[in-house]
Amino acid sequence: MDLLAAHGWSSYFAQHLGADGCVPARVISEQRDRYWTVSATGELPVELSGRFRFEATFPRELPAVGDWLAVRLSPDDRMGMAIRVLPRKSVIARGTAGRPAEEQILAANVDTAFIVTTVDRDFTVRRMERYLSMIWSGGAEPVILINKVDLCADHSGLMAQTGLAFPGVAVHALSALHDHGLDSLHGYLGSARTSVMLGSSGVGKSTLLNRLTGQHLQRSGDVRAADQRGRHTTSSRQMFVLPGGGLLIDTPGLRELSLSHAASGLRRTFADIETLAAQCRFRDCRHRDEPECAVLEALDGGLLDRSHYDNFIKLLKEQDYQRRRGDPAMNARTKRRWKSMTKELRLMQEFKRGEE
Ligand code: GDP
Ligand code: ZN
Repeated sequence: MDLLAAHGWSSYFAQHLGADGCVPARVISEQRDRYWTVSATGELPVELSGRFRFEATFPRELPAVGDWLAVRLSPDDRMGMAIRVLPRKSVIARGTAGRPAEEQILAANVDTAFIVTTVDRDFTVRRMERYLSMIWSGGAEPVILINKVDLCADHSGLMAQTGLAFPGVAVHALSALHDHGLDSLHGYLGSARTSVMLGSSGVGKSTLLNRLTGQHLQRSGDVRAADQRGRHTTSSRQMFVLPGGGLLIDTPGLRELSLSHAASGLRRTFADIETLAAQCRFRDCRHRDEPECAVLEALDGGLLDRSHYDNFIKLLKEQDYQRRRGDPAMNARTKRRWKSMTKELRLMQEFKRGEE
């Protein structure tokens, strides 16, 4: 298999590459405005073209780890200029889908998203519900991993509870520390398939990553290469190639991911409530104290689980909060854009004045 195929290149992306002489390259790590990628010939540092930077309006238009880029090579083939991001098959995003100013892509083109939890305090259906919302709305396939089963005499109750709460979602029990149950993951980590791990700090993601890569990785596994001036630069690798050929993305962004949720994912997790809500008297019913609210009626009649309802309301409130808070990253971008525009105008004026 060539390098591109080994990194997940497929006809889906090929059909979007275009015929303008660009080559494909997949982002394996990002650092401010610089990206490390893998192209057909090896690792390649890539920068955004000025036009790309200028035309990107929303954070989600910028490359993320896992993205495929259409890249123009420098004359010596040692640097690339990203011309565009090829359409994504899926994303893991922070923020709110449908509100592009607030959305930030943490990983792209992910096949499987593992939700890692444990048999102890971390285990809550509510937390899993929130991760599921996010994963579904981004188009990846969720798989729930219950880790540290060595700490629990009998985890079958937790497995059953998870299965009941999320029918159709695969659930596996593991002990990453004792190398137990990892075989069940091989099916998801096949050659050129991309996955990520999500979950609270301390649930065992690093332990699992080390087991899967078969070595003790340091967070800053360095990628070294020379840029066009011959300088050596380093960057922290964020996409790992596993011994079986699978690709595992682990970025600081994913690590810091505070749970947020996306509207469409919410809808799927709470499909039952959405169905009820269609029968509420008011279209903008918030299902809290409105008259003739079908959701509250179902709740009163015992047809709707109280904690499921509480989760739904909690998520709605948080979503409102995030919306109101605005997006500082977005404001910074707008400012930067204005700055470069005024600079260009000034240069043009000076140029014209020189001609006179
Ligand atoms: P991360 O923050 O999600 O990356 O979690 P770590 O991999 O750093 O693990 C946190 C702690 O949990 C460490 O002390 C691990 O040794 C421990 N741990 C990880 N997996 C297991 C497991 O399967 N069983 C037990 N008992 N401890 C584990
Ligand atoms: Zn209602």
